Amino acid sequence: MLTVIARPFGCSLLAAGTLFLMSCAAPPSTSADAALARAAQAMGSDRVTTLRYSAEGTGHTFGQAYKAGGPWPRITLHSVTRSIDYPTGSMREEVVLSRAEPLGGGGYPLAGQQRNDQYLSGELAWNQTGTTATPGPRFVAERTHQLWITPHGVLKAAQRQGARAQPGAAGASTIAFAEPGRYSATATIGADGLVSRVESTYPDPVMGDTAAVTTYDDYREIGGIRFPTRVRQTLGGYPVLDLVVKDVQVNPALQLSVPDAARNAAERVTSEKVADGVWFIAGGSHNSVAIEMQDHLMLVETPLNDARTLAVIEHVRQLAPNKPLRTAVNSHQHFDHAGGVRAAVAEGMTVVAHADNIAYFERVFAQANRIRPDRMAGAGRTASFRPVGDKLEIGDASRPVEVHRIVGGPHSDSLLMVYLPKEKLLIEADAYTPGAPNTPPPAAPNANNVNLIDNIERLKLGVDRILPLHGRVVPVGELYAAAQRTPPR
Ligand SMILES: [Zn+2]
Repeated sequence: MLTVIARPFGCSLLAAGTLFLMSCAAPPSTSADAALARAAQAMGSDRVTTLRYSAEGTGHTFGQAYKAGGPWPRITLHSVTRSIDYPTGSMREEVVLSRAEPLGGGGYPLAGQQRNDQYLSGELAWNQTGTTATPGPRFVAERTHQLWITPHGVLKAAQRQGARAQPGAAGASTIAFAEPGRYSATATIGADGLVSRVESTYPDPVMGDTAAVTTYDDYREIGGIRFPTRVRQTLGGYPVLDLVVKDVQVNPALQLSVPDAARNAAERVTSEKVADGVWFIAGGSHNSVAIEMQDHLMLVETPLNDARTLAVIEHVRQLAPNKPLRTAVNSHQHFDHAGGVRAAVAEGMTVVAHADNIAYFERVFAQANRIRPDRMAGAGRTASFRPVGDKLEIGDASRPVEVHRIVGGPHSDSLLMVYLPKEKLLIEADAYTPGAPNTPPPAAPNANNVNLIDNIERLKLGVDRILPLHGRVVPVGELYAAAQRTPPR
């Protein structure tokens, strides 16, 4: 066991049993190392242990475009407060936001503000609502990447990795490094020693290796360090952030303890038989539906990522062990709903998706997936798709299964729903998410709910129950009540 006894002038006296060793950090012997040391000095990063900063501006919701391949929908960030503890790799982000445009996804109310409280601590992530912590293992990769590309974080990470700077033009330099399995980053250090830009890459379940470009401008001296007051970022080629920093606290006392719920997070899959050969698969934030056909099984929705979708696939295979799971239906391209499409491909399934989304999936699935290769990258399989325009019949002699496009809604331009006419069941995502039982209807009808009813009536679908891909199974009357509409007789 090694114990650090003293730390004079960058050297550590280490006690290993009865043996004493002197360990000294190598002095900056090249101009490259000097650049990193000069940046750390100019930024004050060695003096920063914890940090809290507040900002406001514009954001965009990554992965929630209205049209596949289009820009991320714009939101107003009324306030963003980030608290960071660098030694423990912990971060809290408190956000008050509202939609700045009506189209696109994001799980935000169509009107009014929403408050989010998001945490990372090492390998754990969770979201907090009141006293309830909801584990979010799927957020670890993105939040870890965000933590270590902060202007001081990127220098600390570069030092930790033993990165060396490369001289650039006009006295600038660049420092490239990677944290294996997590992200890679190249920081640009100006002649003034300040971090001006970070180009980085991190793994995303839909896009694979996803490019981020973050710029830091308008530095000010605050609390003995330098901190940028303008932060801009793009993810996957489109803007996600344009912030003006209002307040910075250096080394504040932070309380970032990990709740038990986050520590004990596990992928939970449940199934409920809703009709003969139809199972509602739940247990997490996103549901799926398994449907037994004459000689195979189909799965509606492969959400989130490998972890969720592979657990769902394993569960569904047990429901009818003699039938192969051949088909996966994707409701739409939003990343939380499409994050398991790659897993379905890896498992040899044909993916039924809207034609516009197929073109998009084919493009992004061809991108590199090297930082943390997923099951599809390992399987070396190419996706096989079946396109849907406005309607596709995918049933067989045992039961008809109709896939319909939901037209004219604000959530996604290429949103599909699945209808089982024999059972009068409708499977839909994000057009309607039932509230808790006996929740009074919202003051104003939700435009997505109204649009879903319009589509049900346009297509003359006789629906008894809705199997929503968020929330619980409900009689169709609950949708009509939420939308303050009268159900057909
Ligand atoms: Zn969505």
